[in-house]
Amino acid sequence: RVVVVGSTNLDLVVTTPQLPKPGETVLGENFRTVPGGKGANQAVAAARAGAACDFVGAVGDDDFGGQLRASLVGSGVDVRGLRTVPGASGVALIAVDRAAENFIVVAPGANAALTDLDADDRATITGADVLLLQLEVPLPTVVRAADWARAGGTTVVLNAAPAAPLPAELLDLVDVLVVNEHEAAIVAGVFADEPAELLDALLELVPRVVLTLGARGAAYADRRGLRLSIPAPVVEAVDTTAAGDAFTGAFAVGWAERGGALNEDTVTASLRWACAAGAACAQRPGASTALPERAAIDALHDA
Ligand code: ADP
Repeated sequence: RVVVVGSTNLDLVVTTPQLPKPGETVLGENFRTVPGGKGANQAVAAARAGAACDFVGAVGDDDFGGQLRASLVGSGVDVRGLRTVPGASGVALIAVDRAAENFIVVAPGANAALTDLDADDRATITGADVLLLQLEVPLPTVVRAADWARAGGTTVVLNAAPAAPLPAELLDLVDVLVVNEHEAAIVAGVFADEPAELLDALLELVPRVVLTLGARGAAYADRRGLRLSIPAPVVEAVDTTAAGDAFTGAFAVGWAERGGALNEDTVTASLRWACAAGAACAQRPGASTALPERAAIDALHDA
């Protein structure tokens, strides 16, 4: 079982021939809404990858909140821990031009109100094999969830996104850190080109690190001296948005299915499967809509 404590946003996406300058109004083309937020995306990724998955989060009491809840339910995520709070749901205003250049403004809305984790949430967290966290809900909430997981023997996987330097009180509770190269540099405070250098710097902070490398796959290092380099399946990438969420969700599932044991075989298998999930996501256009089902992950994994 996997539990995510994190964010959910509705992405409000307009395509436009060109992005407006400050003060300018431009005529856009298509408008669509897409459920997003790193927390919800990773919960959907885990559920589609075949795990029982709980989501602990918050939506507003507006229409968007209902859409976000329905989207999670539709992907098979257990939403007993999803609160509805007064006010607006989290939204991301996104404009995208023809060169795929974008601007994005995120209003956290209800995500900022996720400060009231209770005994039910604690039971959900300690009943899971893996707790998956990101940094789009208040930091004290992330720390509390990680603390309960640690006390209850649940593995804590932190995807440090959006990238930020992390306080020691959180780092001390992380079992596995999952980052891309940009996030790695910010968390480590090191600007290195070599994955090995980033891994070394991060191992000073946490016991195990997964570094995602886009089309180059992923690298892993831990304090026992295990180092792995896992290639990604070769695919025609159409849109890599949410590939990181697909990877992280599948990694948590792979690990949970192997009982949370941390040895070379289980880590290698979980990472290979996660790379297949990331690659399957990159093959499809869209963000959360592109998160792959288990069959699609297995097909690439076994190819
Ligand atoms: P993020 O989306 O967070 O920046 P990455 O770009 O590193 O993360 O992608 C996450 C994972 O998705 C990679 O580790 C890889 O397994 C897979 N992936 C991403 N882009 C591609 C690609 N072009 N081809 C194959 N796999 C990809």
